Amino acid sequence: MKNYTRNTLAGTFISAFLVACGGGSSGESGGSSSGTPGTTLPPTTTATITRTGLSGCVAKQLEGTATDQGLAIARVSLLQVVEQLPEATETVLAGGKGVVVRLDITAPKSGVVMPKAKLLIGHDGEVACTEIAFSSASGTAPVAVDRQTMASSLKAVIPAAEIREGLTYMILVDGETPSTKTAADRLFRVGKLNVTDALEEEVIIMPLTFQGETGSAASEADIKSLMSRTLPVSDITVTKNADISLAALKVSDATLTDGVYYFPESKLNDALVELNNQCLSLIGTGLPTQSAPHCVGVWPSNIVFGTPSNRTLGKAFTGGYSMMVASFTTTDDPGATGPYGSHWLTQGALNFLHEYGHVLGLHHAACGVTGIVDAGLYADGRLGDRAGYDAGREFYFLGSASNGFADIMSYCGKGWHSDKGYRKIIDYKLNGIPVTDGPTG
Ligand SMILES: [Zn+2]
Repeated sequence: MKNYTRNTLAGTFISAFLVACGGGSSGESGGSSSGTPGTTLPPTTTATITRTGLSGCVAKQLEGTATDQGLAIARVSLLQVVEQLPEATETVLAGGKGVVVRLDITAPKSGVVMPKAKLLIGHDGEVACTEIAFSSASGTAPVAVDRQTMASSLKAVIPAAEIREGLTYMILVDGETPSTKTAADRLFRVGKLNVTDALEEEVIIMPLTFQGETGSAASEADIKSLMSRTLPVSDITVTKNADISLAALKVSDATLTDGVYYFPESKLNDALVELNNQCLSLIGTGLPTQSAPHCVGVWPSNIVFGTPSNRTLGKAFTGGYSMMVASFTTTDDPGATGPYGSHWLTQGALNFLHEYGHVLGLHHAACGVTGIVDAGLYADGRLGDRAGYDAGREFYFLGSASNGFADIMSYCGKGWHSDKGYRKIIDYKLNGIPVTDGPTG
């Protein structure tokens, strides 16, 4: 079948099967968005460029007489907790977890109508091809990429079920407007993405009882949501265990002030070792730490480790089974309406995520910390020149130091995982690492 016909004088334009894709999807009448102003005849198609992907997706772009308006794909990025670039060899997506594709199209001057764009998703060895339309809040293409917001970007969401091995993509911008080959090349991308199997995490919350008070944690649903929004895992189970008490925490070792027992920090180490033993008796010994359930002890608010002015909020075994944090009852600040003010996650949630990062094999990011530094994270302990995305709150943010962000594994700024940390967690979940050090804060 021929895939195009030359326009007739009346402007009848047949563009069936511009995208041969799964169930098939017809193109639209040509020349609507970028025809030459003042021209009465629609632009003429002179050739068709056939684009084949690495899977079942095939797309067509039209060559023809429409004026080249200089529209170009300036940048494509993939948002799954962190921002990664599809062309970067290190990029890896966690399976079974939705991805927002950010597409930035620029024009050489302001006022150029934002073109239509579509994303074609396929998988190696499969015929099916899924077409996803990009949408934008902006009616015109910007002259430069706005890294701070997505207000002038296009956005398409790849559903979680499509994020699996062999993932291929095509991005096609303004494919139905016949223009030059040079323009067509600027407005097309194709590639393959590295995707892991869906990664699991099982969390056992263990509330600690001490002197009539019991530690509390946010609801299982909130913790599950928090983890889904911040970690490369998609299959998450959170359960609460019965309350436990620890022999390592003796009243005689604490200083009692205004109803609060102040323990030296060394007692937190002892408590974590004991909690870890209770964890192992619960889950069994010998499981690989990267795939075993993880135990989270939560101590009550009548305990402080350290002093009133210098308290420790959590402790974990790096690449281990267990961690402990102070009680926290909520994960989110509902009053935060955007990502650039105060953090939308609570201090308790951030403590939880920091210690959980240790459990998932990360050391500290080098900002405001002492001791072992994780050489795999950014050297300044921040997020590099990358964005973050909280799919739960739908917050997109450029994680620059000037915006106040820092690696959640540091002690600086507004915490979020860096793209490097995200991939390190994926690597840990898949391959594990040897555990060589003791408890860390
Ligand atoms: Zn730490």
